[in-house]
Amino acid sequence: MNQQPADRYVVIGNPIAHSKSPAIHARFAKLTGQQIDYQRLLAPLDSFADTVRGFIADGGKGANVTLPFKLEAFALADELSERARMAGAVNTLKFADGRIYGDNTDGIGLVADITRNAGISLAGRRVLLLGAGGAARGALLPVLQERPAELFIANRTLAKAEELVAEAKGISDSTRLCACRFEDLVQTMDVIINATSASINDEVPPLAATLFGAQTLAYDMMYAAAPTAFLRFAAAHGAQCRDGLGMLVEQAAEAFALWRGVRPASELVLAEMRAEIHAATQVAG
Ligand code: NDP
Repeated sequence: MNQQPADRYVVIGNPIAHSKSPAIHARFAKLTGQQIDYQRLLAPLDSFADTVRGFIADGGKGANVTLPFKLEAFALADELSERARMAGAVNTLKFADGRIYGDNTDGIGLVADITRNAGISLAGRRVLLLGAGGAARGALLPVLQERPAELFIANRTLAKAEELVAEAKGISDSTRLCACRFEDLVQTMDVIINATSASINDEVPPLAATLFGAQTLAYDMMYAAAPTAFLRFAAAHGAQCRDGLGMLVEQAAEAFALWRGVRPASELVLAEMRAEIHAATQVAG
């Protein structure tokens, strides 16, 4: 019997060896009965566009894009989703009819993880977004679409937070918006999302302890086997804590749905990944 070759997808980045995306998409494919082949693709730092074009010429159907190429992917796309345009960055590419379609699923993945997986609504809440880089920008539209009562954007470089707030004002008239420095804030928040890269160096932005209460969800977009410095700080001040593993799985689910037209059971895959990470930490410990 002649079997069609599986449709091919990749995650492109530099470095890329660490990426969990192949394992996540393989699991999604199995759960949905889709035949796909999903690999890592290392692009040289100076030839992202050529690497993508080469993959398209080889019959590739789509790609996830990770650091440091999300801005180049944005520039390469012939067509963009509204959320990619707003984010100014692309993490998902779809190739069809000779065109490159660019989307950004990071922010919607974050919101899905907070509202669906953690069961915490953003509607009518006081939300603080820490950082004003690519990840914060990607979160902006999906977070505003949940209609929080207030959204504070705090950043080390205040001008970048002010820029994001100015853009946000153009798309939301129901949320009170405020740009500030970390040190300016004292009032307890309902949800605090860490979209800074401080966690990479095990650092915490200079935040007042009063921002955190027993009802506060502290969310770090970064994930690691052990809690980040931000989550340790939040937990020490009584907050509920969540890392970015669910965001990673949910942004992948959104990309998978865009490519294949079916939505995988992402919450099951997230639970499996958490169990695997937990088991690995137990062995290492
Ligand atoms: P960018 O480099 O675009 O932005 C970095 C941001 O962090 C800036 O706002 C910067 O402030 C701020 N920052 C850096 N160091 C510090 C510090 N020591 N103290 C306070 N603020 C600091 O990075 P991204 O936006 O792309 O990524 C941010 C984080 O989000 C990363 O940890 C990344 O791993 C995570 N992420 C997770 C995803 C997931 O699926 N879970 C998806 C995408 C990102 P300034 O403007 O002043 O320089």
